[in-house]
Amino acid sequence: MARSCRTRGRYGRGMVVVHETVASRVLLGAGARHLVPEEVERLGATRVLLVATGSARAARDELEAALGERAVACFDGAVVHTPVAVTGQAMAVVEEAAADAVVTIGGGSAIGLGKAIVARAGIPHLALPTTYAGSEVTPVLGETTDGVKQTRRDPALLPGTVVYDVELTLRMPVGLTLTSAVNALAHAVEALWAPDATPVSGALATEASRLLLGALPEVLDDPSGLPARTALQEGAWLAGTCLATARMGLHHQLAHALGGTFDLPHAELHTMLLAHVLRHNLPHAPTAAHRLRAITGDDPVAAVAALAAAYDGPRRLRDLGVPADGLAAVAERVAAAPYPNPGPTDAASVEAVLRAAW
Ligand code: NAD
Repeated sequence: MARSCRTRGRYGRGMVVVHETVASRVLLGAGARHLVPEEVERLGATRVLLVATGSARAARDELEAALGERAVACFDGAVVHTPVAVTGQAMAVVEEAAADAVVTIGGGSAIGLGKAIVARAGIPHLALPTTYAGSEVTPVLGETTDGVKQTRRDPALLPGTVVYDVELTLRMPVGLTLTSAVNALAHAVEALWAPDATPVSGALATEASRLLLGALPEVLDDPSGLPARTALQEGAWLAGTCLATARMGLHHQLAHALGGTFDLPHAELHTMLLAHVLRHNLPHAPTAAHRLRAITGDDPVAAVAALAAAYDGPRRLRDLGVPADGLAAVAERVAAAPYPNPGPTDAASVEAVLRAAW
């Protein structure tokens, strides 16, 4: 028999999956940020704009000094969800400084602004992520105009160079560490049950889950421990790659729908939803269940719920001010145009997941 049972089972007759990879150059290692001047040189850039959020100010200053005359401007105004008004301010700086490259240091907010600048100025982007959100390895940009978010996907939006320096994460507060790592875990988990999963995305998602679930409890115990922080950052890289390659399901749809409707914090929302979506989906996603059980033991839902319960901040939708009588409308919107998902996505099922998280 030319075709194996396994192939027939997973990609049934008439179904072909497509795996695309977009080129980017990734540097990984403690102290890797010190190689940024060389990387800038490699890009042939001589007029660099530095974009950093407050938490990365010290790293930004250090880099500015290392780049010397090649650092021509700084912009500190990046905020969550990439509002086009802020991008407009940053573009004025790009033009005034005649910048020929942008270097971003920070979480998804700084990197999102870097992508928005690239979309307008077409200059190279070197990203130094300081959270586990994963935006640095996706060709996706979500921008908001008057509170309405629009997302676009274009290979040109992927930062051409990513520098993972674990030292930039050592002082990340425990709460942000937890929610950001669970945000990353959600990318991996949804890739495990994605309908367009390939052997590559499945391998990345499995290893990402193993790294994140293994390292997070260690990092929560010892937030500045280098080996576990390194594992967490590696897991976030792989998980971000999953977000870039596989279609996301109910978990991300709920996060988008709730986040958009009630203006909720991105990583906290992911943290309070994931165990509930796992409980709903795993009975319908045998491969994901099998792979997660190999990591967590019998009960992946309990393992993720225990991590979420360790968060010293809002843990339920109600704690974020989401009204109970707003859940049915969100469930109906999700059910009207569901993302691909292994578990049922009718309004009643989705509302039950939301009520559990509430
Ligand atoms: P963020 O970048 O908004 O950072 C959250 C807060 O943590 C900020 O105040 C920041 O200054 C601080 N911070 C960041 N790193 C820190 C560190 N190491 N130590 C201490 N404080 C630190 O949050 P985020 O979760 O990284 O990114 C969220 C944004 O990124 C959202 O707009 C989301 O939509 C976007 N995002 C986009 C993609 C994509 O593929 N396009 C993927 C993931 C997230």
